[in-house]
This record gives sequence, structure tokens and C-alpha cells, in this order.
Amino acid sequence: MTESENTSQTGVKSNVLIVDDEAELLQMVQIALKRSGHKVWVSKDMDGARNLIQLNPIEIVLADLTIEKENDGLIILDELIPRAPDIAVVIMTGNHDVQTAITCLRNGAFDYLLKPFNLNELISVVNKVAERRYKMIEQRNRIEEQIIVLSRFPSESPSPVLRVKTDGTILYANMASLPLLKEWNCGMGQKVPEFLKNFIIETFKAERQQDIEVQSNGRIYSFTVTPIKDSDFVYVYGHDITRLKETERELTILKNQAQEMALHDPLTGLPNRILFEDRLEQAITQSLRGGTKTAIAFFDIDNFKQINDTYGHKVGDQLLIKIANYVKEATRRADTVARWGGDELILLLTGLHNQEEANFVCERIRRSVQEKLRDDDLGISATLSMGVAVCPDDAQTTELLEQQADTALYAAKRRGKNMVVLFSDTDYVNIFQQKARLGILLRQAIDNNKIVPYYQPIIETKTKRIVAIEALARWFETELGWVPPSTFILMAEEEGLIDSLGEKIATKAFNDFKILRQNNLQISLNLNVSLRQMYSIDYVEKLLQLTKNYHLEPEWITIEITESQALVGSIKRGNPLKEIASAGFRLSIDDFGQGYSSFSSLQEMPLNELKIDMSFVRNMKTEKGLRIVKAIVELAKILDLGTIGEGVEDKDEYEILSEIGVDKLQGYYIGQPMAFEEITNYLDTNLKILT
Ligand code: C2E
Ligand code: MG
Ligand code: MG
Repeated sequence: MTESENTSQTGVKSNVLIVDDEAELLQMVQIALKRSGHKVWVSKDMDGARNLIQLNPIEIVLADLTIEKENDGLIILDELIPRAPDIAVVIMTGNHDVQTAITCLRNGAFDYLLKPFNLNELISVVNKVAERRYKMIEQRNRIEEQIIVLSRFPSESPSPVLRVKTDGTILYANMASLPLLKEWNCGMGQKVPEFLKNFIIETFKAERQQDIEVQSNGRIYSFTVTPIKDSDFVYVYGHDITRLKETERELTILKNQAQEMALHDPLTGLPNRILFEDRLEQAITQSLRGGTKTAIAFFDIDNFKQINDTYGHKVGDQLLIKIANYVKEATRRADTVARWGGDELILLLTGLHNQEEANFVCERIRRSVQEKLRDDDLGISATLSMGVAVCPDDAQTTELLEQQADTALYAAKRRGKNMVVLFSDTDYVNIFQQKARLGILLRQAIDNNKIVPYYQPIIETKTKRIVAIEALARWFETELGWVPPSTFILMAEEEGLIDSLGEKIATKAFNDFKILRQNNLQISLNLNVSLRQMYSIDYVEKLLQLTKNYHLEPEWITIEITESQALVGSIKRGNPLKEIASAGFRLSIDDFGQGYSSFSSLQEMPLNELKIDMSFVRNMKTEKGLRIVKAIVELAKILDLGTIGEGVEDKDEYEILSEIGVDKLQGYYIGQPMAFEEITNYLDTNLKILT
């Protein structure tokens, strides 16, 4: 049972035992005390009283002086004092003798009550006793606590112990603290130095123990300041932590060394790529927040490989170290020079105002390094090329900035070395920007059906009849003019637009082709397909569906795939070429001769014809060139494949190809690729002429 459990707002409530042989009085007192909130036990005799005390947390005993016999109350008192000093005994006595009361108090009674008493008197005495007892116990506990603290600071302690008033006055100092006091120039009754006084005040206010480090006589102490409750002083206990501090310092050095090694290049001592990128990231953040510019510059030693080969790797390394130092000397402290790897250094410049400043600084560094190398005893006058990218102008991520600085460095090398090139001064900027714009326009062009097939006639050499037309995609953009298919087909593939573009062209071409077939023209349609398109899901099914939708037959349609793409196709899992062939379409290898298909791979493919690349047609005027075309025609015959000569531009080419047995011909000499209306007219006229 703790004291607080018996404490209420109306006062201290206690567990009270009343011992009296008068039953009536017992009952009356019991009721009265219970009413005022106390918990009450009663006993008529001594044994009963002893029992109750043993079994219950009795705090106050109200005992009649005469219970079974005279002075029994004093006997209870005597018994309790040594065994249970916390129990407060109040003696009730009818004896109006002052001497009796004095005896009771002298023997350790808390109070006494003279009989007869009225109930108010009783309650008042019990309440007062309860309160006094509570306070006494509380005070005792506090003293005990202080004793515990004090016992921790023996005067013989080898460590300094001080008792200091909250105003900083030294009340006590042990022997060990004397050298300290001497250094502080103070003694008993005087004030501790200002810094300690302030710390003591602060700790006292905080009402909890705090530590402070103090250096004295070449040693380091940690002072623990302990405020003592309800007092105006603190204890100051010093531990000598000199050794601990030394160990800590050694550990920090070791840790720093390890970190240094992990983040620096061992040869030049410069930060490595990891540290550089970390700093770059921070610089980018600051740049974007603060509105200043950050630049990175890649450095490359011109002809370093040659230097290495001529003078050896050791000299190469020495040169690199020299350059690293010279670059470092030429930069501000806030800037970072790092080793990227090989002979490449990278520089981080922060807080710039514009691109010109980046250029200016880099140019200055480049010249300064060059001059220093010229005067250096190493005797190698190397030059530097530098590529610079600026954040936020060029890019806002580490990766892209590095990529761009590298691009600029490449440009510097290409333009003749020994110079600084800004990324924004390279053509790549235009290319990047144009590419982005082109992507947007391409998407819109596909959506708005601005890319349409043109048709180029294909003639049969034997009959001189137009037997086929090839659909070739055409895109006219007001802003750009005619965009070549080689450009937009590639971009559509990169941007994931090739499926929709292919579908649009095929749909329009099938529609046009249906009209031509309805006009009784016995021709077929050649359709170009790229690899990615062919590998898209359901490509063949969709193609077949489209063929049916326009009431066309698959054998009227020839799918052209370039030689290199056909080769990739044959190694990949699943073979769309076979699917195309088994659906009934014809297959043609476009630009044949450009790839490296072997005889056996050609044999395996379900092909119908080879389109001889126009570069061979162009070279036919040379003997060797002619032999190649003849060989291709031979090969096709062996493989039982038809041949088409592409890019026939003049009569000579037309005649040679016809002579050596090429089956079909296509090219400007026969007809340009033309819009649907034009090809309709063209076919009308030419078929009439030919028949
Ligand atoms: P390709 O299939 O080999 O088409 C023949 C190319 O040669 C066409 O270029 C055509 O205009 C051009 N040409 C025709 N006759 C002559 C000639 O006598 N002399 C010269 N110098 N050139 C001639 P184009 O239209 O620029 O197409 C380039 C390539 O783009 C095509 O080569 C084809 O691989 C691809 N392509 C065109 N349209 C499409 C399409 O709708 N889908 C796919 N996937 N690729 C297409
Ligand atoms: Mg083609
Ligand atoms: Mg071709």
C-alpha cells in the first residue's frame, strides 16, 4: 500500500485499527472514521490487534491505554516501534493525567486522545496524524534518495566530485577536484567558471541529469550534473574520458580513411565517379531551386593512347596525376574535379550565371593546364579536349548531363581536339529537338491519315506487262516537306507506332487495290512490312482478315521483307514468314544482297522471289558488278525463286537485266511511285499500250 493511494483531495486517508475493550465506543469510532474516508479495522483485545496488524496494511493504530489490563496501549506501542516504525500509534486514555500523555509521546506515540472525546475531536486527531505521518514518510524517502546519490560520490573518489549551488557557488569539492579548481582559479565558496555555471542552471531547470565535456590539464572529463530534488544545489561528477576520446578519434580517422578510399581514385587522389555523382545530384537540386546553373565538363587528354605507347604507362600515369593537380589548381574550392576512369577527368562547376560562364571557365582551365604542362619537367606538352553540358539548360538529370557532356567531348575530338565544346553548340541539339518534334508530328499524321501509299509499277520482262505495283508510304508535312520513309518508318518503330501506321497503309492500299482489281486489272500488290510489325501479335490473322474484308485473294498480295530482317526472323522463336506463306500470301526478299543470307537459310525460307538491291543494278556497268547480278539470278533459279531488279533508272539497265533473265523490273525508268489517281491513269494508258 503506497501513500498516494490513501491520499485524496480532502486529505490523507489511512488504514486505521482501533483497539478498545468497550464495544460501544468501538462501533461509534468505526462508523465516524469510515464516514470521513478512512478504512477501519477493530479489535477488542491484544491478540486480535496483533493479528490484524500482521495481516493488513495498517497505518494508524488507535489504542486504548487500558485494554485487557493497565498500559496495554503502551505495550502495543513498544511492540510496534522497532518492527513497524511507519505505523503511527495514537493512545486513547481516560486518565486526565498529563504525565500519562507525556509518557505516551515519549514512548513514540504520535498523539493521544483524552476520553471522553467527541467525534469531531476524534476525526480531527486522526486526520492530522494521517497527514503528519504521510509527510514524515515522504521526507524520509527523499532523504534516502539523497543518501543514495551522496553515497555515489565518496570524497575519496579518484574522480572530481563537486556540490555546487544553483548560482554556481562551490559548496563541496573532493580531493580529486582540487587540480581542476586550481586551473579554474576558484575554491570553496567561490563560483565555478561561467560556462559550467550556465550549464548547471540549465540542468537544474531541466530537472534531469545532463553531461558536459570539459578539458583540463591536458585531460578530457565528462561532467555529469545531477540536480537534487527540492534543494538548491547539484552534484557534479567528473569522469576522465581522455582514453575513450583518443580511441574515438582513432576510430573516426580509420572510418574517414575507409570512406576516403571508397570515394576517391587511388592514383590521382581525386574524388571518384560515385562521389562526383553524389555531388552532382546535390548541385542539380540546388540549381533547380536556386536558379543558378551547374555545369559538368568531361576532360580527355588528347592522344593519350599514343603518349602511353611512346613513353610507357608509368609516364602516362604521371601525366594524369600532373593534369589532375593542374586542373584542381585552376578551379575554385567549391568545384569538384573527379576521375571518371581511364584518361577522363570530369569537372563540376556550380553557381554559374550562364552557359558562357561555363565555357569561359573551362577554356581558362584548358589553357592554364596546357601552359603548366609546357613548363613541367615531365616534358610532355599534352592538350585537353573538353565537352560541357549545363543544367538546367541542356538537361536536369545526372545521367543525361553526363551523356550530353560526353557527346560534346566527342564533338570536340571530331572538330580537331584541344578545345572546349558546349553541348548546345553541337548538332546533336538540333537532332534531338528535331527528333522530338518529328515524333509529335508523326503521331498526328498517322491519326489524321496523312501518311498514304503511293504505287510504283513493276513490269514483267518477258511480256513487258505491268504485273504488280509496290505500295510505298508517303508523308507530306507542310512544316517539313516530304519526309523520307526511311526516317519515319524507323521512328514509328522506335515510338511503338509501326503497328498502327502499317495497318493504315495496308487498309488504304487494299481499298485502292480492290478498285483496281474491280477494273479487271490482273495485277498484284507488293506490300512492305518491317520486322517489328511482322512480330506483333495476330499480325497474320489481321492481314488475312483485311484481305477478306476487301474481297481480295492472298496470292494477289506479295509481302516484302528486307533480307536482314528475314534473317533475324528465322532465328527468333515462332516464324511469321511461315505463317504468312501458309496463309497463302507471297513472300519477297527486299534489298537482296545487302544482308548475309546463306544458301541454306534461303532454302529454308518459304520465299517466292528476290528483289535485287539497286546498288547491284547501279554497278552493272563494271564487269565485276555484272557478274554479281548474274550470280544472284543463277542462285534464284537454283532456289526456284523469281527475281525483280530494283531501281532501274535507264534503258541500259533495263536491257541488261532483261537479257540476263531477271523476271521483273521496277524503277524510275518504268515509272515513279505515284498517288492512287495517277497510277490508275497510268495503268489504263500503259496496259492499253502494252496489249
Ligand atoms: P524499298 O521497299 O526497297 O523501296 C524501294 C525504294 O526505292 C523506294 O524508296 C522507291 O521510291 C525507291 N526507288 C524506286 N525506283 C527507284 C529508282 O529508279 N531509283 C532510285 N534511286 N530509287 C528508286 P522509298 O519510297 O524512299 O522507300 C524506302 C524504303 O522504305 C523502302 O525500300 C521500304 O523498305 C521502306 N518502306 C516504304 N514504304 C513502307 C511501308 O509502307 N512499310 C514499311 N514497313 N516500309 C516501307
Ligand atoms: Mg520494298
Ligand atoms: Mg528495295
